[in-house]
Amino acid sequence: MKIKAIKTSTLNVSAPPPRNTYYPHNTYVVARIQTDEGLEGLGYTQLVGGDGASSVRAYLEDNLIPRLIGEDPLHIGKLWQKMYDADRGLRKKGIPMYAISAIDIGLWDLFGKSVGRPLWQLWGAVTDCVPVYGGGGFLSYTVNDLVKEAEATFAIGARHYKMKVGLPNVMENVERVRALRKAVGDDVNLLVDANQRLDVHTNIRLANLIEPFNIFWYEEPVYADSISQCAEVARRINIPVATGENEYTRYGFRDLVEQKAATILNPDIMRCGGFSELLKISHLAAAYDIQIAPHLAPELSIHVLAAIPNALLLEWSITRTPIWREEPRVVDGLMSVPNRPGHGMEFSEAALSKYLVK
Ligand SMILES: [Mg+2]
Repeated sequence: MKIKAIKTSTLNVSAPPPRNTYYPHNTYVVARIQTDEGLEGLGYTQLVGGDGASSVRAYLEDNLIPRLIGEDPLHIGKLWQKMYDADRGLRKKGIPMYAISAIDIGLWDLFGKSVGRPLWQLWGAVTDCVPVYGGGGFLSYTVNDLVKEAEATFAIGARHYKMKVGLPNVMENVERVRALRKAVGDDVNLLVDANQRLDVHTNIRLANLIEPFNIFWYEEPVYADSISQCAEVARRINIPVATGENEYTRYGFRDLVEQKAATILNPDIMRCGGFSELLKISHLAAAYDIQIAPHLAPELSIHVLAAIPNALLLEWSITRTPIWREEPRVVDGLMSVPNRPGHGMEFSEAALSKYLVK
C-alpha cells in the first residue's frame, strides 16, 4: 500500500453557550490520508480558540506531506521518525508537533482499517470503557453557569467536574470554588485548572485556601515552559498536581516525570505526537505509577486509555458541539470505546457542511 495523497482542510466549530463566552470557536485542522488501495485514514488536530490553525496547516502542506507521498502508510514508526527528523532547524514543540500528531492519528486510523480492528484492541485491551470527567467551568462563567454545568455533568453519572481558577484575584477564585462545592455537595470530585495563569506563590496560597474544599487535582499551575516551577508547586501543596497539555513527545514528559512536576499527566494526543507518542508517554508514566488523564479528544485518547494499566479519566464536556457521525457514548459516567475499525471517528455530514472553511 502506498500513500497517494494527503488532503488538508479546516473546520471552525462554534462553541455552545456559555462556553462561547470564553472561546467563540475551536478549529480542527484535518489531514485525510488517501492510498492507492482506496483506504483512507482520518487525521486531525484541534487548536483551541483557533490560534495557530493556519500555521499547522501550512506546516503539513509545506514540510510533512511532500515527504510522505509514495510511502507505505503501515510503516508508522518509520514515518513518525521521518517527520520528526525532517527539519533540524525547528524544535518539535508547538506547531510542528500539532501537524505530526494529525498525520500519526490518520496513519493509525488507516492501520486499524487495514486489519479491520479498533485500535484499543491492537494495543492489548484492559477494558472497553473509561470514566470521564466534565471539563469546562471557564473564567467567563458566572457562578450560576458553573453550578448548572457541574450539575448537568453529575446528572449523567460522571463523578468529576473541573473548573478554572486563573483569576488574578485569589479570593475571587476561592469564593467560586466555595460556592460550587456548597452547591454540589461533598459526594463528588472537584478539579481545578489554573491554565498557567498564576505564579508559584499565588498558586501555593490559592491551593492552601481551597484545600478544605477537597480538591481532586490542581492543574497546570505555572507556564508550561518552567518545569522546575511546576515541581516547586507540586512539592509545596497538598493537592495532587496534574499537568502536560502543553508538553510534547516522550522527551517533554520524561522531564516532567524526572523533575516530579506532577503526579497526574494530561498529554494531548492532538499535540504530543499522536497515538504513537501517547502510548510511549503512558508506558513511561506507568513505570512510575503516574496516572494518565488526557487533555481533550476523549474519542481518540480512549483507545490508548483502554489499553494501559494507568488510565485515570478522560476529559469530556456536557457543553459541547456535536460534530461526529456517531457521538461517543457516555453512560453512567463511562465512555465506551468506539468499536469500529481504526479510531472509528468521522465528522458528520451536518458538521462538515456547517463548519468546513475550505
Ligand atoms: Mg487544562
